[in-house]
Amino acid sequence: MKAVGVRMVTRSRSRGPVAGPRGVGEDAVRLRMGEAAAEGRKSCSPVKHPQKTQRLKVAYEAPGGEKGEGTEPLVAPGWEPPDWRKQLENIRAMRSGRDAPVDQLGAEHCYDPSAPPKVRRYQVLLSLMLSSQTKDQVTAGAMQRLRAHGLTVDSILQMDDSTLGTLIYPVGFWRAAHPPAYSFVYSQRPRRAQALPSGAPAGHRVQSKVKYIKQTSAILQQRYGGDIPASVPELVALPGVGPKMAHLAMAVAWGTVSGIAVDTHVHRIAGRLKWTKKATKSPEKTRTALEEWLPRELWSEINGLLVGFGQQTCLPVRPRCQACLNRALCPAAQGL
Ligand code: SF4
Repeated sequence: MKAVGVRMVTRSRSRGPVAGPRGVGEDAVRLRMGEAAAEGRKSCSPVKHPQKTQRLKVAYEAPGGEKGEGTEPLVAPGWEPPDWRKQLENIRAMRSGRDAPVDQLGAEHCYDPSAPPKVRRYQVLLSLMLSSQTKDQVTAGAMQRLRAHGLTVDSILQMDDSTLGTLIYPVGFWRAAHPPAYSFVYSQRPRRAQALPSGAPAGHRVQSKVKYIKQTSAILQQRYGGDIPASVPELVALPGVGPKMAHLAMAVAWGTVSGIAVDTHVHRIAGRLKWTKKATKSPEKTRTALEEWLPRELWSEINGLLVGFGQQTCLPVRPRCQACLNRALCPAAQGL
């Protein structure tokens, strides 16, 4: 699908089947085409009627004394990483070949371009669900096999769990779970279920990908007429769909940048380059920290750029710092 245009909502990001998602950029596919405030309270008495607060801009008078008429106030600059522009430029240079697995096999490349828009969007969401903790190559193979069986909401709902599990194998966590012994949420290692920490909340019980896919497909059929919802809150409400998948789905399937899609690659690299004001412990916290300073117009580019960089150079283990153009600018290079 060829991207039709990216529109920004709320704060923003990811790739688009509508887009080159991990960078809803030039290639972003637009599947959506065709249809679809500080006032302080001084009283110590109990608050009976909360008052709306107004956000005050921090500004300074112009040098030279009194602020004259027509003088624009100087807004205090927000925090940003000192070398991020040069670091980003270097990463773009290292990624100029667009030859990382994500560039050819990412979820945004796995849908059937000849399918109706609604079906393409469903396929985008499904590929994103399959891609969790799974290599792009494995996800692409599974999508190919599923498409050969006709990949629609109806076909998935009519398929028995065993057949679906066989078609998506060896995608991570394809196997039906042994509730409540395994956790998808807590696992750190691909394709290996781990026992839940004792006392883990029931809401974190594992649901295998087969079950998540079936449950989500049923919801899409019942509530959305077989289409996928067009908002992040509705997407993350679907079984097995997290914030990263939701922002990517918005970009790829709907051509809308809703936020920065942060996966383990983006989380790791942002930490190494100190692109967050404070160290963050989860991709979701990294997303929030990045969105505080990264210009919105770059949100759609970051995912694809950093994922590929993480696949080829800034590897999780033994990153190739000697070959990295950022080695002189990277706070983590010395220690690796
Ligand atoms: S110097 Fe090493 S750790 Fe830093 S960005 Fe480059 S590859 Fe990653």
